[in-house]
Formats: sequence, C-alpha cells, structure tokens
Amino acid sequence: QCVAVCPTGALMELDQVDKVWKALNDPTRFVVVQTAPAVRVALGEGFGLEPGTIVTGKMVSALRRLGFDRVFDTDFAADVTIMEEASELVHRLKNGGRLPILTSCCPAWVKFFEHQFPDLLDIPSTCKSPHEMLGVLTKSYYAETYGIDPKKITVVSIMPCIAKKYEAARPELGQSQVMPDVDIVITTRELSRMIREAGIHFEHLKDEEFDDLLGESTGASVIFGTTGGVLEAALRTAYEWITGETLEKVEFEALRGMDGIKEAIIPIAGRDYRVAVTHGLGHARYILEKIQTGEAHYDVIEIMACPGGCIGGGGQPYHHGNVELLKARANAIYEEDRSKPLRKSHENPAVLALYKDYIGEPYGERAHQLLHTSFTKRRKI
Ligand code: SF4
Repeated sequence: QCVAVCPTGALMELDQVDKVWKALNDPTRFVVVQTAPAVRVALGEGFGLEPGTIVTGKMVSALRRLGFDRVFDTDFAADVTIMEEASELVHRLKNGGRLPILTSCCPAWVKFFEHQFPDLLDIPSTCKSPHEMLGVLTKSYYAETYGIDPKKITVVSIMPCIAKKYEAARPELGQSQVMPDVDIVITTRELSRMIREAGIHFEHLKDEEFDDLLGESTGASVIFGTTGGVLEAALRTAYEWITGETLEKVEFEALRGMDGIKEAIIPIAGRDYRVAVTHGLGHARYILEKIQTGEAHYDVIEIMACPGGCIGGGGQPYHHGNVELLKARANAIYEEDRSKPLRKSHENPAVLALYKDYIGEPYGERAHQLLHTSFTKRRKI
C-alpha cells in the first residue's frame, strides 16, 4: 500500500502500517520496536504540540500501548556506532589507511555515493547505520540473553526517514532475506497515524522508560538526529581515546547550525584534524568533487541527505522548508543531550557490557560480522 508524498501523486511513499498491525496481532511473533533520535523531537507535532517539544517518555508509553513486546532505543546503537566508527578512524590513523573517513548512517547518501562516486568507495566508514545495528543486536545478543528464537522476532524501526525502508531491504544487511536485521520500517508520520487509529490520547500519556539491555543511551547518541551530530559524537570519543585525557568541553560549536557546509580544524594531541559537515546532496557532491581532484583534504566528513539532517527527514511531519521549525527541533536535540548524565558514547555502561559480554574488542572480528557492511559499485546515473 502506498500514499502520495507529492502534490501530483507522481511520487509515492511505501506505507507499512498494515504490516506492523499484522505483526502485532500475530501471537507467535515477538515484536520489538526502536525509535531514532530525531523522532522524539517531532512526533508531538502530529498531536498539536509545538515543534521541538521532546516527547520521548510519551512515545515509549504509546508504543507499549500499541502492543510492542519491547521498546528499544536506536540511540543505544548510535553509541555502538561511535564505538565502531571512532575505532575505525583510530585504526586508519595508525595503519596509514585512507582518509577522509565518511560517516555512513544515511542510506540516501550511501546510495547516492555508490552511483556517483564509485571510485571513492573505500573511504566511507563500513559501519552499518544505527537502526541496522540495533536490529542485528536484537536478533543475536538480546535473543541469546533471553533465550528467544531470533526467527520469531520482528524488528520494527520508527524512523524520520523514507530511505530507511529501502535500506532495510538491502540483502547484505542481515542473514539474507530470510532474516533481515530490520523487518519493517515506518516513519514518524506513520507512527502518529497508528497512535490515532488506536484511540490513544497521546498528550495525556505518562512518561515511561525504554526497556533494558538495548535502551540506555548517552547525549552523544541523541545528537545523531541533527546535522553535525554524528561527527561531534565521534570527536567526543576519538579525542579521549587518542589523547588519553578527559574532554571537558564536549560541545563542538563549529559543527552546529544550518550552514550547508561547515568546516573546522580540531587540534588533538599535536595534530590538526580537518573536518567537514554537509547536509543536502548538492553540498556533498561539491566537497567530494574537490576530494576527487585533490583540491581539498579532510580527515573526517559527515554527510546527511536531508536539510538539517534527520530532524528534517522525509518521514517527519512536513516542515515545508521552514528553517525556524528545523532549528526548534535541533535545539530540542541539544537540550536532550545536555539533560543526559553521560554525554560520551564510550561511557555508556550498557554498551560497555555489550562489548565485555558479547562482542569483544570494538572493530574486532565479531564486531565486523555483526556491525559492519559493504558497499556496491553502481551504474552512474
Ligand atoms: Fe534518512 Fe534524511 Fe536522515 Fe539520511 S538525513 S538518514 S535520508 S532522514
């Protein structure tokens, strides 16, 4: 079933709400849901709340009332992503690997890259995106810990993003199509509709917490939801790992804001790291063409396809290009970050337990099996 996402109806969005209801109504399925960082600062708009209202607790409560067996936080896996991506950066630095390293959380950007820059396919990080990591960890770590048959688990991702629907179907993300890491993706707008269909009075819900094992997160993971956030989160961890010192000021202001391209030089342990942040694929193309021709040199680049990053994603309540509305969502993301007792991914105790009890070394053999992926050269279009 599809719904129109453009005024002429020429472009259709895959609607998967019926698939979610079917899974929830099937007593043989153990249905797990996860929510991306940007969803919690936009979902309230679907219920008349001001843009930038943080509704994390109400969202968790609504998901339980819809009947999900467990409610997990994609933010947990965003912390795992930083453990892997920062390790990958350090590994490349130590071993003379190719730089810049590019973030790989955004499937629209990854697909664009595969078509447009196949000669640079060795520079993106090989990390899966956070919701794919959470999917595979649910069907391995969580399933083994609680003795659940992973084939009976359905993982539903609530995303700000339409491209994640396509990403979940990529054959390399999971053990073939028999057991993909993530089974169903619905958007923030589709979740609003489900909550209304169920007759839940969202505004009156009491706050609830995510479920254990895959529900704990730091401020670093929350900022994944806005442009510059993934790079800032990675730098919080990479700085401490490279220097062995505590990073006192965790905010990297130069990476924040709505400029299409932001550049900064970050000194760490006597070396200047050249970093860049872009959102919008036109800006990404501009930077990558400079890398291709050797005109520009960077160490780390974050690229997101949507305006403002995931807060402005195609699955969010429509923003119609309203920059003030996007800023309100971004401010809420930074407020949530400030409210967290821990703000660096490598300090997340649940993530540390995952590595100690199950994965072993970050960027090690098991981490590669579960948390990393590969890219495909595609025809230039
Ligand atoms: Fe999806 Fe847009 Fe976020 Fe990319 S930036 S992951 S396309 S919502």
